[in-house]
Amino acid sequence: MLEQNRKTIENPLNKYPKPPFEKQPQEVPGLSSKMLPVPDHGENSYQGSGRLLGRKALITGGDSGIGRAAAIAYAREGADVVINYLPEEQSDADEVIALIKSAGRQGYGIPGDITDPSFCKQLVEQTVEKLEGIDILVNNAGHQQAVESLLDLTEEGFDETIKTNIYAPFWITKAALPHLPEGAVIIATSSVQAYDPSENLFDYAQTKAANVAFVKSLAKQLGPKGIRVNGVAPGPVWTPLQTSGGQPQDAIVEFGAQTPLGRPGQPAELASIYVQLAASDASYATGQIYGAAGGSGHP
Ligand code: NAD
Ligand code: MG
Repeated sequence: MLEQNRKTIENPLNKYPKPPFEKQPQEVPGLSSKMLPVPDHGENSYQGSGRLLGRKALITGGDSGIGRAAAIAYAREGADVVINYLPEEQSDADEVIALIKSAGRQGYGIPGDITDPSFCKQLVEQTVEKLEGIDILVNNAGHQQAVESLLDLTEEGFDETIKTNIYAPFWITKAALPHLPEGAVIIATSSVQAYDPSENLFDYAQTKAANVAFVKSLAKQLGPKGIRVNGVAPGPVWTPLQTSGGQPQDAIVEFGAQTPLGRPGQPAELASIYVQLAASDASYATGQIYGAAGGSGHP
């Protein structure tokens, strides 16, 4: 059965949709279900092989995009999964929770705004209660709004980006740390923006660089405790973050065209990286940032 379903060699150039795409503005945070085309999160393709059997994961932003692809993969690898998301994303989240359950694992959604420090604490406490522990923390939720000029970047906008992308991982990780056993992992979602910032992502790019420093510092602090800390730096990936203001709509039309593969990545194409970083066979990988950017970008 495994042999029948698995395609062993695929041309990355032809595997997924290429630009041009339709303009498709949505209000923040956007829904995956409304994207044209709908992204691939591995719903019909990801096959597990027990790599995360019995593990307990919390994934922020697990309703859509990269976090959703990680949630589906983790469940199919044998982990129980809690996803967090904003209340307006309940319909995307319901689909993910159903997929986790159909993989035979426990799946729970805990909606709430991670720019609120007291919610971040509750999120971790409720996760630990539901899963009877936590040993994989994926700080993946993010906020990105393109602003052409610094003069148009408001203090509220700046604050929202910093709170979501820097403060929330701090609050959530601090709350989780007393519960993390030896062998646990923390995974951050950074970006190519950390290394080569775009002119219209002044605030966002700074937060993604902060995510790299988070990984590098915390890996040193937690290495002696047997806890690994790594990050992923995606390039352009087809998600609602981008279509709901992360890029100007003109840039959505050509999204991913500038990469050597000539197209954006799909969330499904990153899932195996999140699995690899969480799995105990990657036990010597800590303090690292893994890239997935279609041939350009860093690291
Ligand atoms: P996405 O929109 O699918 O996921 C982002 C999620 O963040 C949302 O689903 C939402 O649930 C969550 N979120 C945002 N603000 C929140 C808040 N205040 N409270 C709770 N949840 C909140 O998009 P994605 O692209 O999969 O984003 C996931 C991560 O990937 C982000 O950290 C983003 O910075 C990073 N990233 C994305 C790309 C890309 O091209 N899509 C590239 C590099 C890095
Ligand atoms: Mg979402």
